[in-house]
Amino acid sequence: MELQSIKKIGVKTIPLLNKLNIYTLKDLIEYYPYRYTIYKPIHLKEATEDLVVTIQATIESTPKISYIRRNFNSLTFKAFASERIINVSIYNRSFLYSKLEIGKNITLIGKYDQKKNRFIANDLKLSWINDLKIEPIYHVVKGLKNSFFPNFISEALAIEESVDYIPQSYLEIYKFIDKKQALQWIHFPKTVNEIKQARLRLIYEEFFVFMLKINYLKLQSQKVKGIKKNFDVNQVDAFVSSLPFLLTTDQKKALDDVLKDLKSEKKMNRLIQGDVGSGKTIVATIAIYATYLGGFQSALMAPTEILATQHYETIKKLLEPLNVQVSLLVGSLKKKDHQAIVKDLSEGKIDVLIGTHALISQDVTFKNLGFVVTDEQHRFGVNQRSNLQNKGLLPDVIYMSATPIPRTYALTLYQDMAMSIIKTKPSGRKEIQTYVKKESELKEILQHVYEEIKKGHQIYVVAPSIVENETNNDVMNLKKNFDVAFNGKVKTAILHGKLKNQEKEEIIRLFQENEIKILIATTVIEVGVDVHNATMILIFNAELFGLATLHQLRGRVGRNDLDSFCYLISDTDTERLKVLEASNDGFYISEQDFLMRKEGDLFGTKQSGEFIFKIGDIKKDFKILMQAKKDSEDFLKSEKVKDAKYLELLKGIEIVD
Ligand code: ADP
Ligand code: MG
Repeated sequence: MELQSIKKIGVKTIPLLNKLNIYTLKDLIEYYPYRYTIYKPIHLKEATEDLVVTIQATIESTPKISYIRRNFNSLTFKAFASERIINVSIYNRSFLYSKLEIGKNITLIGKYDQKKNRFIANDLKLSWINDLKIEPIYHVVKGLKNSFFPNFISEALAIEESVDYIPQSYLEIYKFIDKKQALQWIHFPKTVNEIKQARLRLIYEEFFVFMLKINYLKLQSQKVKGIKKNFDVNQVDAFVSSLPFLLTTDQKKALDDVLKDLKSEKKMNRLIQGDVGSGKTIVATIAIYATYLGGFQSALMAPTEILATQHYETIKKLLEPLNVQVSLLVGSLKKKDHQAIVKDLSEGKIDVLIGTHALISQDVTFKNLGFVVTDEQHRFGVNQRSNLQNKGLLPDVIYMSATPIPRTYALTLYQDMAMSIIKTKPSGRKEIQTYVKKESELKEILQHVYEEIKKGHQIYVVAPSIVENETNNDVMNLKKNFDVAFNGKVKTAILHGKLKNQEKEEIIRLFQENEIKILIATTVIEVGVDVHNATMILIFNAELFGLATLHQLRGRVGRNDLDSFCYLISDTDTERLKVLEASNDGFYISEQDFLMRKEGDLFGTKQSGEFIFKIGDIKKDFKILMQAKKDSEDFLKSEKVKDAKYLELLKGIEIVD
């Protein structure tokens, strides 16, 4: 059902919810808290300096406000708590001033220093919390407060019928609570145990559904026939020999796999994994050429316009001399140009079409599409895996992923695909020298930045967010700080996802032309910008990123034979970050990342995500994933899978021939 069915959700709220990818009541119900705050008031005697505690207090003095610097103020007052008078400070709550009258009962959450008799609160509630209270915390956007969610969700739960995809038999075996109960408990838990039970069940269900789809796809793709392509291997070899470099061993192996699949009657469904810069694109390009020789069209889909444009330029340069017609189709094209391409494509005048995944949703028909390359697999979910192959003929498909994942995981999550791995790096590549540094060491780092700039090189700076957060390392602030540090003499610019496409392209162009020296960006640069003259990347608040994401990010530099550097700036979590200091091998790093089982990071697998799970975490919940894998395989063989709800579920990913 639609969001409008909830009275409390007004027209202004809907776009805000959309920003969180919430479009329906189902989305809303499945918008789970990412953590919970548990309040249980204690006596101050039990408080130790390093423990966050909850206490009941009564205000004893009118608060004083001090403005420490811009965007930073403190409120201090005396309060009566646990039979004593304590000094309370809380930062950035000056807006509470008028509510904090003498005699008011409040609950304070924070740390208490017994010696100084000082309570530093990080949160304050305007009444007493008496018992255990569990508050769900949701990811929010500006304009939507956390406290809105329980209201919206309780109404949604009352009117939306949710489907339980866990088969009855498994509900019984695992003694899972039912779906309705689970949804209630995940959003409105009264005890910690309720959260645990709800999570376990919802995670299992999510994995079960995912694995059911994957297994189904696998079965399907074994049944369908692909397109056999006949091409002259000598011509392919001649093209490979004309390249200015020799293919690495792994590239050769991957290419062999792909060429064999193109020739065979079996439909190819292959994943090529390899670090950024390991040379996947060139393998794909050779396969595209072979497809052309075999008389078929190819398509290449990239996750962003920037990437699509780069691929277009690379591939065009390589293939146009061989008479292959390469075109680019992106959303920003003028209508006339768009129509011309669509027409040429359907008439077979275009051999290779490159674009964003808008390619699959548009009015695009190929004359004889024979081969599809999907770049950066991790940006496409399972429902998109089968989409392009549905157009007319059943083309061969390869997926290129620069986020290597360990073999056991890959074999599960990509069960429906064959796999080629490119581990060896093209020779002559230098390792990126990586250092984990504290923020207090910034001065030395800036010195190094300056040296690189004097050499004519360029720098990336990555910030965890666009808007100001508690760390102050947002892109706006960093730009200010860099401009101050270099007296405005070094040209800097900001790049982030909220800019208009045109602005983004302009900034990237200026950076490519070495007009801009320091590019301060969010993770948008992870996929896309390719500037060989950039030799250094600084990543602020590195602790907020997963190792795999950090490795991807640092792959923006080291694209030439110059010495290149990566600084991971963080005051915490240095143990984990040092894995990157020690290694430049994406497969090793990803294994370490999985071993450490830190929850999928904010910017990596979970959010922008490889697999887009709403509650499950492939690392932390791996055992549940394996169980769900086995169960879904069994279930797929049973008659029960023909129930209407499962047919409905699998309909979207059917491969039709
Ligand atoms: P990926 O797609 O894996 O990120 P690319 O195919 O874009 O990597 O290759 C990165 C760069 O390395 C490109 O400039 C490409 O021309 C070059 N390259 C690819 N293979 C080799 C090789 N075997 N030897 C030297 N350079 C190579
Ligand atoms: Mg690539």
